[in-house]
Amino acid sequence: DDEIVLVGRSNVGKSTIMRELTGHSVPTGQKPGVTREPNHFDWSGQSFMFTDLPGFGFMSGVEGEHREAIQTDIVRYIEDNADSILAAVLVVDGKSVIDIIDRHSDRGEIPHDVEMYHFLEELGVPTVVAVNKMDKVDDKDERLNDLCDRLGLFPPWQQWDDEVIAPITAKAGRIDSLRTALQHHIRAAKRDEL
Ligand code: GDP
Repeated sequence: DDEIVLVGRSNVGKSTIMRELTGHSVPTGQKPGVTREPNHFDWSGQSFMFTDLPGFGFMSGVEGEHREAIQTDIVRYIEDNADSILAAVLVVDGKSVIDIIDRHSDRGEIPHDVEMYHFLEELGVPTVVAVNKMDKVDDKDERLNDLCDRLGLFPPWQQWDDEVIAPITAKAGRIDSLRTALQHHIRAAKRDEL
């Protein structure tokens, strides 16, 4: 079956997005760092599934080693299923994403979100970056342009609107740009199948 995967750090709003997209309620606020099995859902009668992968990156109370194991699980899952994965949604928190990326870069580390984006790109998995919690962002254009810059996408962000960059406020149900981007990739995949 065709599959859409959701990835992102803990607490960025993956469960909230999943609930908005599928209408299913997903248990939220699970104990951080507990490896979750991928959850499968149908989406409005269509023949693909959403898989919510465990949150990666920093999780309070979780040892570094366990964190690494989760990251490895996610990477392996995506590699193993790349053929059936129609698209990926990389969810980031619009409020904090730039600070987190820059903090890692300043320490000479590769930020998880950037690493994940390039990993998906290399595998050829079409990826939508859902920039969530936009209700908390004051200068929307500047934030989204900064994010494009960090991901190696040429600003302005509007160039990537509808396909790659999807600013949303999942908590308020404002996820239209994500739906539009996913529909685009679904249509493209169906075209390729013909
Ligand atoms: P997950 O760990 O990635 O699955 O994140 P959750 O879906 O559990 O959300 C984490 C927290 O962020 C919860 O308190 C949500 O209510 C909150 N949240 C989710 N989406 C939004 C949003 O668009 N705006 C704001 N301000 N908070 C949000």
